[in-house]
Amino acid sequence: MRKDAHGTTPAQPPPAKLQRALLRWYDAEKRDLPWRGTKDPYSIWLSEVMLQQTRVDTVRPYYQRFMETYPTVFALAEAPLERVLGDWSGLGYYRRARMLHAGAQQIVRDFGGELPREVEALRSITGIGPYTAGAVASIAFDVRAPLVDGNVARVLARIFGVEEDVRGGAGRARIWQIAESILPQERAGDFNQALMELGATVCSPSSPRCGPCPVRGMCVAFASGEPERLPNMAPKAKPRPWKRAALVATLGADRVLLARRKRDLLFGGLWEPPTLDASNDRDEGDGARLLALAGVKAEVPVRAGEITHVLSHRKMTVEVYRAELRSAHATLGQNQAGASLDEGDGEYDAIEVVARTSAMRRGMSTLARKVLRAGGIEVNMGRSEGEATK
Ligand code: SF4
Repeated sequence: MRKDAHGTTPAQPPPAKLQRALLRWYDAEKRDLPWRGTKDPYSIWLSEVMLQQTRVDTVRPYYQRFMETYPTVFALAEAPLERVLGDWSGLGYYRRARMLHAGAQQIVRDFGGELPREVEALRSITGIGPYTAGAVASIAFDVRAPLVDGNVARVLARIFGVEEDVRGGAGRARIWQIAESILPQERAGDFNQALMELGATVCSPSSPRCGPCPVRGMCVAFASGEPERLPNMAPKAKPRPWKRAALVATLGADRVLLARRKRDLLFGGLWEPPTLDASNDRDEGDGARLLALAGVKAEVPVRAGEITHVLSHRKMTVEVYRAELRSAHATLGQNQAGASLDEGDGEYDAIEVVARTSAMRRGMSTLARKVLRAGGIEVNMGRSEGEATK
């Protein structure tokens, strides 16, 4: 363990002292958030899923709207996935919405519509991993279940002076073991939330505010004089470049061509202008390949612009083409121009020419909205600025 500024090895904080300090601070300082103050496991599950990789301010209106539209597990389970994805549009990481929907159906089928209180049973539900299981069990049921997310890992690595990489292997295991060992007998849910709240509001990644921190007197990283040096994390891989070409095809002023992505793909179940991997040479005729992919008759597509969109693992560059359709007929699989994506294992399972007004109500990613806008279509960009993480 690293020595403190005086050259001595700091003692590990006693759990009881840590618990008292954190709970007192949490009671006085916690933010007023719509999902706080409820013990309803469904509301807690929903908020925790929405908050993964996403800022509180972005989540707030989505959470409130979801609770109005789908107030119970039953309501969510019975809703068509397409509608759920539509309501999730703009929040990003759409796999979460698909898993949430599948999880709700499983809870109705296997647990009579009630989320179980045991961590093991929670973990058996589609989409619920160790973090979410710990959150639901501890916050809703006060089960002594630990949880570790990015905020908690950072706070614990600093307080306990964990030098190993907290993203994996021994470091990650050590953080989970610490998180379990310091849980109080009572108020485990509040204690977990206090750790998360401290990470979100005080112990930030690059500039921790140690001055007002309630655990400053027992923090190894603070004592070392370089609190921001921890946690140690292997650098994330850079997003890989991915070149695509998309077709914004319209019929008159009111209709636009959209295709639905297959469920098991990135953006699965969402609608977008037909898109394929771009050829390396623009002159090779990506516009014609797009017409063939969509099975439409149209004027020769013209380039309308280029957009970039960064996901956590991909940096996408999309060449946007625009064309005027001659009819509302569109059929996937009319692949006369050699498009590589639509020979039975393509990216789409449906294609339609739809009214622009109804298009905007379908589940659509921020990327698809950017493409439409680049193709000259007036688009509401949704309530967040895309899939990039906080
Ligand atoms: Fe984080 Fe500083 Fe508090 Fe330690 S004292 S937990 S480094 S804010």
